[in-house]
Amino acid sequence: EAKRGGRSTYRFFEASMNEAATRTLQIQHALHEALKADYFSLCFQPKFRGDNSELTGAEVLLRLRHPELGPLLPMEFIPIAERSGQIVQIGYWVVRETCRQIRRWRENGLPAVKVAINLSPRQLEQSDLVARMLDIVRSEQVPCEQIMFEITETVAMQDAPKTTNMIREFQENNFEIAIDDFGTGYSSLAYLQRFRAKQLKIDRFFTNGLDEYGREGSAIVSAIIKLAHSLEMDVVAEGVETASQLEKLKGMMCDEMQGFLLGKPLAVEEFSALLHGHKGGSLLMFKKHRASA
Ligand code: C2E
Ligand code: MG
Ligand code: MG
Ligand code: MG
Repeated sequence: EAKRGGRSTYRFFEASMNEAATRTLQIQHALHEALKADYFSLCFQPKFRGDNSELTGAEVLLRLRHPELGPLLPMEFIPIAERSGQIVQIGYWVVRETCRQIRRWRENGLPAVKVAINLSPRQLEQSDLVARMLDIVRSEQVPCEQIMFEITETVAMQDAPKTTNMIREFQENNFEIAIDDFGTGYSSLAYLQRFRAKQLKIDRFFTNGLDEYGREGSAIVSAIIKLAHSLEMDVVAEGVETASQLEKLKGMMCDEMQGFLLGKPLAVEEFSALLHGHKGGSLLMFKKHRASA
């Protein structure tokens, strides 16, 4: 019993529990306000082709700035939104806002890049998820082909048969699916094959390992890339931070690269400027081919 450990220890424990609970409640409240008061924003982290460094698109990353609590990190507020269920509404907001941005780019004559949106477990539990996403994307007049959804490996494997069906439903409607943060969970290779996801994103822990763990680190990444290619998936390396990682990944025929070395998550205006730079260029997003084939 906690009390036996001494009155003061117990008090301290109680106080920090209260603090954590208070913070959680504050954030839940901030999340509730955020949708109405416009405290959310999106940033876009660019992704590039491995073979010719062309811009292929972006991953959408949610940002929250609250007048009193200041800027909050997804690492803190996404799990809270997930537990309270608020992530479902927030998730629809992210998709709508992304579509509106895609339309603005199109209206400005900018290239139609592919945009990847993260999904969390609570969202995947919604049986009408795909239908709702379709409604939003269609009402904003964006082609589904421009939207990709990311599902983390751990979440995908939790109920693999259900994930298989969900992925099929998404892909039948021309949304693409990426398996995110791959390598840190426990994958059933049989299911990885059955998912038939378009992309596999190697967790940044492994990208980091290319420098950190030498030959063994490279062997693992190379094996993951070969596995993905043999299952007809494209591979994206996350968290590319050094030139040596980039070179090694290129040598391993990694299809796409994402990371601070190539581009941080950018505010809308910054990403728009990047798109401007690619305006006249050949942006072959719908014709991406694999150099290793
Ligand atoms: P994620 O989907 O794996 O996103 C990649 C995270 O890695 C982002 O963190 C990004 O800023 C960070 N990152 C990118 N390149 C590098 C690099 O070179 N080095 C390092 N150290 N980090 C890098 P962020 O934006 O803080 O997001 C964290 C997580 O929050 C995301 O992980 C995703 O799971 C979740 N998240 C973000 N936005 C959304 C959203 O709109 N909906 C949902 N459901 N989850 C989201
Ligand atoms: Mg992601
Ligand atoms: Mg990731
Ligand atoms: Mg992650």
